[in-house]
Amino acid sequence: MSDSALSAQAQRLSADEAVALYGRPLFELAGAAHEARLAATDATVVTYLIDRNINYSNVCNVGCSFCGFYRTRRQEDSYTLSFAAISEKVRELEAVGGTRILMQGGVNPYLPFEWYLDLLAHLRERHASIRVEAFSPEEIKGMSKLTGMSTREVLRELQSAGLDGLPGGGGEMLVDEVRHARHVSPARIAAGEWIDVMAEAQALGLYTTATMVIGFGETRAQRVASLLRLRDAQDRALASHGNGFSAFISWTLQTRGVRIEGRAPGAGAFEYLQNVAAARLILDNVVNHQASWPTMGYKVAQTALFAGCNDFGSTMLEENVVSQAGARNRATPERELVRQIVDAGFEPRQRDSLYRIVRVPDVSALLGPDPGPQPASPVAGAAGAASA
Ligand code: SF4
Repeated sequence: MSDSALSAQAQRLSADEAVALYGRPLFELAGAAHEARLAATDATVVTYLIDRNINYSNVCNVGCSFCGFYRTRRQEDSYTLSFAAISEKVRELEAVGGTRILMQGGVNPYLPFEWYLDLLAHLRERHASIRVEAFSPEEIKGMSKLTGMSTREVLRELQSAGLDGLPGGGGEMLVDEVRHARHVSPARIAAGEWIDVMAEAQALGLYTTATMVIGFGETRAQRVASLLRLRDAQDRALASHGNGFSAFISWTLQTRGVRIEGRAPGAGAFEYLQNVAAARLILDNVVNHQASWPTMGYKVAQTALFAGCNDFGSTMLEENVVSQAGARNRATPERELVRQIVDAGFEPRQRDSLYRIVRVPDVSALLGPDPGPQPASPVAGAAGAASA
């Protein structure tokens, strides 16, 4: 690979050039990715979102080996939240100025399709100002199987009932030899199906994000193949209707206490930062790249702001999926996100999920003496998490 391929102005990278990125010294690669980020987005600003994850049910029939969240219906601690319980969580989010809920479950074959439609209608009626991004492609496929409707019909019905977008969950590695490997998730939908559902959602005008998880034991070429599938999908979406992935988010496989522990290597900070930087350079058609503090911790996430990321993710009040596979970092109040962004030398801006700035936070008020418990206290337990 020529040095010019590391330039922010370089031409689109070929697959071979993209693989070669992973052989470059990390700080050289990160520097090139940072330049590309500065050219693509406001150079002085890092954005964040106030949101809440709601895992409406932990019943799932897919059984991914890296998932410590799912249960069978017969297990004592399986659950499906009532509409009232979900509403209460949304009220807590509203109280702290949140703008969106990210709602994912397992793929629960016991919930009728009407349950989802009624839930969306319930939320629209009571929480009109909150965007609802819910149901990953795996869940959409599950609803399609359950109803006999096409995934496009499922999406259209959900959208009519109040759905604003889909979480990026389940992207992981868009290479079937990896995602369907015996030690990973043989029952997962195929990479092409994940892409197809996202493309259908985008064509309907729904919000979507692209995600990636590294650490299954995949090769560099497979990481690149996954990124190139996203780049191709984004090209098609932008060319046909202009509504592509709003952001790219990657994180590392969390293995503690789940079946995949000992059967996949996971990935550390070095590989995470390398992948974040490579992704910024390869995905030249995705503007927003998000750092993952829940899996990597604040320090590594801050470093990712100098390796291609322009966004610090979200407060993730309540997250139950990656945290149950060993992610050490739980929900965080806004002041902590702001502190990390300011400490890294950027101006924090609260955004909505469409990356529109909705508020300039009062940094001195937020970073003054600790105000004590926030109105909505963090609850144990995905942007971008890996559920469904
Ligand atoms: S990751 Fe999602 S699809 Fe896989 S077992 Fe967990 S809840 Fe089910």
